[in-house]
Amino acid sequence: MAYVIAAPCVADYSCLEVCPADCIRPRPDDPEFMRAEQLYIDAQTCIDCEACVTACPVDAVFEASRLPRKWGEYKNINAEYFQART
Ligand code: SF4
Ligand code: SF4
Repeated sequence: MAYVIAAPCVADYSCLEVCPADCIRPRPDDPEFMRAEQLYIDAQTCIDCEACVTACPVDAVFEASRLPRKWGEYKNINAEYFQART
């Protein structure tokens, strides 16, 4: 069960800098980063290390099964980001 980035994300990429699996996008050097409203975790490559949870300054990262109900759709929102790019 992977981790998911939800609504509080402010796209500061602190999580991306600590992720050992390189599964958070977009990167700061991706063209779309400047207009990204949040970052996204690829559930296919996330290794559940929780480093992003600790790094996030706004508590925007949740283990998928523990997503607050009000942000339940973010599991799909994260997945759709990567589906649109394969
Ligand atoms: S749990 Fe670990 S591997 Fe998964 S996105 Fe967070 S930092 Fe990356
Ligand atoms: S999830 Fe947290 S650490 Fe990652 S980009 Fe969003 S606000 Fe920053």
